Amino acid sequence: MLRHTGENLAWQPTTESRTQPHDEPMPEVTHSTYFTPNRFYCVETICAPCGIVVAWAKFAKSESPTNILAFLESVYPTEDSRPDYVCIDKACQVLSHSIACGSWNEWSKSTCFIVDSYHYINHRVTDFLCRKWCNPAPLDGSAPNLVIVEHNKNGQAYYKCAFNTQACEQLNAWIGGFELILRRMTVGNFNWFLHSMLFYHTQMVLEKQQQKVDRNESSSDDDDSDVDIY
Ligand SMILES: [Zn+2]
Repeated sequence: MLRHTGENLAWQPTTESRTQPHDEPMPEVTHSTYFTPNRFYCVETICAPCGIVVAWAKFAKSESPTNILAFLESVYPTEDSRPDYVCIDKACQVLSHSIACGSWNEWSKSTCFIVDSYHYINHRVTDFLCRKWCNPAPLDGSAPNLVIVEHNKNGQAYYKCAFNTQACEQLNAWIGGFELILRRMTVGNFNWFLHSMLFYHTQMVLEKQQQKVDRNESSSDDDDSDVDIY
């Protein structure tokens, strides 16, 4: 079932705002059959630095630290299952929330919440917690798994992020290309379509990785793109 262009159904707000409010309450709607951006604020994804999609979820109303933490806890319910690092574009807010609600006692045993490198450039200046605990590439030796030393063509050593902290942003940009189709779908169609696309996307990432392995076996050239460190 599709919603036609310009059609305004009874349960939709009369004016559709083109801007997404940030953590603000959305108007309540009572109908639950259709997916629309008015009903679900956003799609949240978890992906590995290589681009493989681990999980996705729809967040009702907002991408709040509460929702992000609940999503992480549903995907990684136990200490053993949790990764050493979780990079979130608003990791500093998630960390604050986790400390405030008491769950940091558990999370801190296994995991650091780090921000992506672009967030860090701006926020480290004004936010102590972000600077101290969410640095995606600390150069003081405290996180050797996040920073590696490479050498340029002249043999000079330089620091490089060991992981692509923009992987989720890149995935989200790709999903954004389907927004116009997705926003007209019913909830069931939306879930099926997005899940299928993310499945195929992951298959393609795996295929590319295999091609890279095959290439590296025949040539020692490394074509990794560098991420600068600040
Ligand atoms: Zn921050």
